[in-house]
Amino acid sequence: MSDCLFCKIIAGDIPSQKVYEDDNMLAFKDIRPSAPVHILLIPKKHIASLQDLSADDADLMGKLMLAVPKIAADNGLSNGFKTQINTGVGGGQEVFHLHIHIMGRPA
Ligand code: 5GP
Ligand code: ZN
Repeated sequence: MSDCLFCKIIAGDIPSQKVYEDDNMLAFKDIRPSAPVHILLIPKKHIASLQDLSADDADLMGKLMLAVPKIAADNGLSNGFKTQINTGVGGGQEVFHLHIHIMGRPA
């Protein structure tokens, strides 16, 4: 999506501090961290929110969830972490490209 901030980050049109990337997903540091480690994990496919998932996205979402603890551990959060997915205006979502917040303090 040409007017999506996170699609622009995926395309490299907007710089980000990447911490993980593969064919399906990208993880990068949140620009306004609310924890010592605050990473956003996004699918490369533009999906606006959890409310916009289809059955076709089941495999992709499974891959994202499996990547979460690995990305957390690689960034010092092997002792545990918090995850958050804000969904829709009522859920406080500001960027409408599905993203998983991974937050914590290194042990
Ligand atoms: P939401 O409120 O939609 O769940 O979270 C959006 C997140 O994206 C916020 O935590 C915000 O700090 C982050 N964010 C917004 N713009 C940028 C940006 O240009 N670069 C990065 N790295 N993070 C951003
Ligand atoms: Zn997007």
